[in-house]
Amino acid sequence: MTAAEIPEGSIPVLDRGFVRLDAAMASDLSVVNAARVSFARHKQEMEPDDEGLIGFLLRNRHGTPFEHNSFRFHVRCPIFVMREWIRHRWSSFNEFSMRYTRATDEFYLPALEDVRRQVGKPGAYSFEPVEPELAEQARAEMEKTNEAAYATYNSLINAGIARELARTVLPVAAYTEFYWTVNARALMNFLSLRNAEAAQLEIRRYAEVIENLFAEQMPLTHAAFVAAGRTPP
Ligand SMILES: Cc1cc2nc3c(=O)[nH]c(=O)nc-3n(C[C@H](O)[C@H](O)[C@H](O)COP(=O)(O)OP(=O)(O)OC[C@H]3O[C@@H](n4cnc5c(N)ncnc54)[C@H](O)[C@@H]3O)c2cc1C
Repeated sequence: MTAAEIPEGSIPVLDRGFVRLDAAMASDLSVVNAARVSFARHKQEMEPDDEGLIGFLLRNRHGTPFEHNSFRFHVRCPIFVMREWIRHRWSSFNEFSMRYTRATDEFYLPALEDVRRQVGKPGAYSFEPVEPELAEQARAEMEKTNEAAYATYNSLINAGIARELARTVLPVAAYTEFYWTVNARALMNFLSLRNAEAAQLEIRRYAEVIENLFAEQMPLTHAAFVAAGRTPP
């Protein structure tokens, strides 16, 4: 099976992945109105002091006004990235099924400059680039393994083995696809953890794109999150 199509409006991430904001029902005004309902007040438009209110809510961790909105993302990423992503329980996922659909031959291969070694102790690793020859060699070995795994997968399928069993030979570098729906409060928690120094580089690349899309939809909330030291409410 050949590579899947990249949908219109997608932002490329890694070598074969993407993020696309499929839909959003999100605005800074929703935060303000959720907070002001305590005083039976409702606004049609933002007013100058509302920026301060959003900052106050965020700094003081009044989190619930940030839950009255929704972002739906369409994502293609390697399975090992999705394994980290799916740990974020305050959100909803639906994933491409390799039981029902034949796997594609798309596998993550890091760019030369992203091939790295880890230095230091668990919990405090730093990552350093490797010599170009080693980076080439690592990439070649990864590619060979991916191709061999996909050849075995195909031969199992062609021999009549069920897709749900044949997929077990595929590596976690295989690309998968999913829809992810999340509100701004849980999204800020995700960003604080995944668009962060300690996060693995590959999920961080996705989180950077997600953060830009969030900032476009809810600029004042995003600015308040950054000003609060990226601590989610
Ligand atoms: C750098 C890094 C390294 C990691 N390493 C590991 C690892 O080695 N092994 C591993 O298993 N995981 C690891 N994780 C995953 C991590 O433990 C979390 O599962 C993941 O980051 C999701 O965070 P969360 O629970 O805050 O998010 P969500 O599940 O979206 O939850 C959001 C918030 O809701 C609240 N909440 C949700 N569920 C509960 C609950 N059951 N009880 C109480 N409060 C709840 C918490 O306040 C939580 O912060 C790592 C994550 C990062 C960022």
